[in-house]
Amino acid sequence: MKVDFIIVGQGLAGTLLANELFKQDKTVMVFDDPAAPKASLVAAGIINPVVFRRMTKSWLMDDAFPQMETTYHQLEDLLKEKLYFPGRMIKSLSEAQSVLWKEKVFANRLEEYIDPEPGFSFRNNNITNPYSFGCVNKSGRLDIQKLISVFSEFLVKQNSIRKEKFDFGKLVLKPELVMYKDVTAEKIVFCEGPAASQNPYFKNLKFKHSKGEILELKIPELQLNEIVNAEVFVMPMGDDCYKVGATYSWDDLNRETTDSARDELLVKLKNCISASFELIEQKAGIRPTMHDRKPVIGFLPDYPPIGIFNGLGSKGVVLGPYFARQLADYLVGASNYIHPEADIKRYFPSSPSSDQGAPSVIGSRR
Ligand SMILES: Cc1cc2nc3c(=O)[nH]c(=O)nc-3n(C[C@H](O)[C@H](O)[C@H](O)COP(=O)(O)OP(=O)(O)OC[C@H]3O[C@@H](n4cnc5c(N)ncnc54)[C@H](O)[C@@H]3O)c2cc1C
Repeated sequence: MKVDFIIVGQGLAGTLLANELFKQDKTVMVFDDPAAPKASLVAAGIINPVVFRRMTKSWLMDDAFPQMETTYHQLEDLLKEKLYFPGRMIKSLSEAQSVLWKEKVFANRLEEYIDPEPGFSFRNNNITNPYSFGCVNKSGRLDIQKLISVFSEFLVKQNSIRKEKFDFGKLVLKPELVMYKDVTAEKIVFCEGPAASQNPYFKNLKFKHSKGEILELKIPELQLNEIVNAEVFVMPMGDDCYKVGATYSWDDLNRETTDSARDELLVKLKNCISASFELIEQKAGIRPTMHDRKPVIGFLPDYPPIGIFNGLGSKGVVLGPYFARQLADYLVGASNYIHPEADIKRYFPSSPSSDQGAPSVIGSRR
């Protein structure tokens, strides 16, 4: 069977890349291991264009935000599902944060995203009153879990997915193409999320994944329509259900939920809401992250048929569509631009002569 591209992994990255390639009339075969953990199945899916600590725009926001909106609307049309929920985020502010908010809104050109004046008239008797509230007007969430599941059904209908673990030993590399079992393709792109740290082709990439835990709670009295960002975020899901998170940890990168993360989140939650709640579920996942917290996309300098789309970190929902589009344009030859800060070449300083990452013992080159 011949396809244009093989994609390994159908989390958010693999889904968005496959979608962009379909839009450009390309054929793909996706391999996704149903048993492997997916960050995308744990993520809250929140869209936040602001770095509150410094009151700056998130990286690339002015380019990534419009691409994000276009992509998720297009996916809703394609899949006939509601996936994207634009909305406001209410940020609770201390006095010092209120001052910073006012100082930086115009200086850092945030007025397109936030209300310039804190003190926004948000009231909810179950939310503990801080000094003030700020309002992020361009926020919201993506239902990542639904996107992944309905896009998987779409791929099944196109005969474009195999739900199995990719076996590196069976990959055959030729100068102009790759072969995997009965599938031949021009290129292969690995979108494996945190599992990429074990991928033998990307040994010299510097990953710095972080573990995150999140709670799902029922809070009938809260009656909240907006996402609230205080010591934790509280994100309404409908039917009185909320996601509350998230923790960050860089040790013990396993997928086990912990009592300490649950306690940390509940203590912080109690600091910001007074309503009683029922804990429904706790989940843990690993955010695929690079050492410099920038995504990694592109192709091995010495083995251009092998590529990667990874490192979306905690910003996958906003940055994913922008970089999927960029990578797809590169793959189909419509552009040769890859954002330099995200380009895999940063891990190959002496490329193209460098032999770092060479797959000498993996697969076979015939
Ligand atoms: C607690 C938590 C909260 C988060 N909240 C947010 C948020 O609010 N907003 C936001 O933007 N981001 C958030 N994120 C980050 C977001 O989850 C990631 O940016 C994004 O989901 C990464 O997608 P991915 O496709 O790169 O990785 P993944 O979702 O992990 O997907 C990787 C895929 O590759 C497959 N795979 C791996 N190895 C193989 C193999 N050998 N063969 C076949 N298949 C393989 C896996 O099965 C999986 O399907 C959060 C993450 C966590 C953990």
